[in-house]
Amino acid sequence: EWLSNKIAAGEVVERPASVVKELVENAIDAGSTSIDVFLLEAGLTSIQVIDNGSGMDEEDALKSFSRHATSKIYQEHDLFRIRTLGFRGEALASIASVSKMTVITSDGESGTYVELEGGHMMTHKPGPLRKGTDITVSQLFFNTPARLKYMKTIQTELGHTIDLINRLALGNPQIAFRLLHNGQQLLQTNGRGDVQQVLAAIYGVHNAKKMVSFQGESHDYKVSGFLSLPEITRASKNYMTIFVNGRWVKHYLVQKTIVDSYHTYLPIERFPIVVLYIEGDPYLTDVNVHPAKHQIRLSKEPELLTLIGETIRGAIRSVMR
Ligand code: ADP
Ligand code: MG
Repeated sequence: EWLSNKIAAGEVVERPASVVKELVENAIDAGSTSIDVFLLEAGLTSIQVIDNGSGMDEEDALKSFSRHATSKIYQEHDLFRIRTLGFRGEALASIASVSKMTVITSDGESGTYVELEGGHMMTHKPGPLRKGTDITVSQLFFNTPARLKYMKTIQTELGHTIDLINRLALGNPQIAFRLLHNGQQLLQTNGRGDVQQVLAAIYGVHNAKKMVSFQGESHDYKVSGFLSLPEITRASKNYMTIFVNGRWVKHYLVQKTIVDSYHTYLPIERFPIVVLYIEGDPYLTDVNVHPAKHQIRLSKEPELLTLIGETIRGAIRSVMR
């Protein structure tokens, strides 16, 4: 089992940002309203995620590092209507197998403290009763030097994690996120459900103030979000963030529709800052296409693209008048 954990780790744990992703998604799944992420050296030295979610009792905590420990799929049927973010049940085990991990967790009734090294349990004792979970992953890839060699610069690795936390914060404005790197705070959101506050935290108050809200509805879909005016543009597409039923996705045709709508008013090779939330019946959105690559297949796509195009052009027209 230990070996298969290490092999699985190669698939799940590509870089520090993949560890942060799995830990933060678990914290979200646990119903947290506050999630703090502390990195040292972009996470290569240490990654700590502290949440105030449900926590785990001792038994669940010990189970959580074994493979396929997921508590999140109850019926086969659920596979086709995935609501929670995690569903493989092997992330924690994989991460533990390639790092030194400390888990402090409490469901409010009992507290558990566990230390692992390369997936092996070193310490196991009662922990504090603060409800929630505090996981520290240090010396990532200490026992897989080949993987360590693939790490890019601190700036590149940090950039991946910043992009990730920005997306998670935009996707979960009701959760208060903090990201600190070597003691320096890089992001703080207030968790009050205010998307414009999250935009201000990410892109600056000045830009966020100038962004315009939009919403629209068709038979099967609802879209809403914020967009920058055509005079505030960026050189890359990375500032267009798209969610489908709360899940961040990359969708070429949706991006193209947004850009084309702008180009009706501003025919240049630049891109807007946009956050777009698409809501529709989960049966219309097949998350199983490629969950890891964040690709998604949408039924009734032409209807959705028309809705997005009309909504965005309408919003731009209304402020340009
Ligand atoms: P998955 O998320 O796919 O179920 P993971 O390996 O990521 O698998 O986590 C294993 C299990 O550990 C989860 O199903 C959950 O029960 C528990 N767990 C992990 N992190 C947390 C957390 N922050 N709060 C509460 N429970 C957690
Ligand atoms: Mg998980």
